[in-house]
Amino acid sequence: MLKTIRDIDIDGKRVFIRCDFNVPKDEHGDISDDRRIRSALQTIRYCLQRDCKVILGSHFERPTPNVYEKKYSLAPVARRLYQLLKKKILTSRDVIGEDTQKKYQMLKNGRVLLLENLRYEVGETQNDKVFAKKLASLADVYINDAFGACHREHASIHAMALEFDENSRAAGFLLNKEVNFFSRIIKKPARPFVAVVGGSKVSGKLQALNKLVENVDKIIIGGGMAFTFLKALGYEIGKSLVENNLLDDAREIMKKAREKNVKFYLPVDVVVATEFSENAMTKYLPVQEIPKDWMGLDIGPASSRLFREVLDGVQTILWNGPMGVYEITKFQRGSFDMSRYIAESHAISIVGGGDTADVALKSSYIDEMTFVSTGGGASLQLLEGKDLPGIKVLKTLGGTL
Ligand code: AMP
Repeated sequence: MLKTIRDIDIDGKRVFIRCDFNVPKDEHGDISDDRRIRSALQTIRYCLQRDCKVILGSHFERPTPNVYEKKYSLAPVARRLYQLLKKKILTSRDVIGEDTQKKYQMLKNGRVLLLENLRYEVGETQNDKVFAKKLASLADVYINDAFGACHREHASIHAMALEFDENSRAAGFLLNKEVNFFSRIIKKPARPFVAVVGGSKVSGKLQALNKLVENVDKIIIGGGMAFTFLKALGYEIGKSLVENNLLDDAREIMKKAREKNVKFYLPVDVVVATEFSENAMTKYLPVQEIPKDWMGLDIGPASSRLFREVLDGVQTILWNGPMGVYEITKFQRGSFDMSRYIAESHAISIVGGGDTADVALKSSYIDEMTFVSTGGGASLQLLEGKDLPGIKVLKTLGGTL
């Protein structure tokens, strides 16, 4: 069983909450989507109501350790937390250094201290025990609410948790909700169950695809990864994204789908362009007619219509990966249409992955989705059936999810 914050005594204690504040920022450094911060509030408020001293830790992107570049600072997160919690947030300018010690002395019960980006410390990504011990010394209780980081064996996710005994470490509300949701989907999905998979590469989702093919009733493939499948079927794909080393894997997945009677759908037409840019010349063409020096950057209108029909009447839709290069207006139509079809369906819709959630947000359908996961990589690994390092350490002995 996964122990949750409700199962342990935290009253008046020093509680470290590992959050995932790795939020998208715009070109001015302002947070463009604060859902990850808002998702952490339930656990933070729960601790504050119990008069705890709350210490928050998170990573943000990938800074060079020991180099305190402003663009990687969690300062904007502190400002947003202050607006949401309506409470002054103490912030530290380091992770386990002097400033943290100073602010830590000032921390009162019912108050929050936010540490700086954990990845400023080299020990974080190395799952270093010494660093983990220092972090752990700040708290009596360890709570992990960073679902999006649970697939990483990093110090604040793994080694630090082991510094606490079973009665002093647990999952926060967000982590618990994500794990429950995905385990229910794996064990008992309402059928028909469709996986809509897109994004750039097959390689990052190969294992998940292999597993999904055993579980779903239909698979729709879009995005850059579709071209590896199309090439594996013998189509000319021009200069489109392809992973030539995975053609056999692609064939294998399609074979498995046939054997398991899983309906497998690829785009039938694409938007092709001469270059990867907003100003590129574009054409809509059937996949049989992609010219040698053009590249496919979105699914075409016929594919969109086909995929809408595939979604008709299904009960569960799992969506991971955009249908095209949605960051460029010219190539966002396929992803936005997909977002609308999924939102308008009566199915349980699960959106996983930062880019996919971004598509749902930008197309204004995010609120219509049943569940938007805060973890892309983590949710894929859960679907692959893997035991994530951050979750494994929180399970009580002998338990299952
Ligand atoms: P992933 O992280 O694997 O889910 O991939 C997301 C990225 O895939 C987005 O940044 C898209 O721009 C990109 N993408 C989607 N379709 C294509 C395509 N046809 N060619 C190149 N990149 C694509």
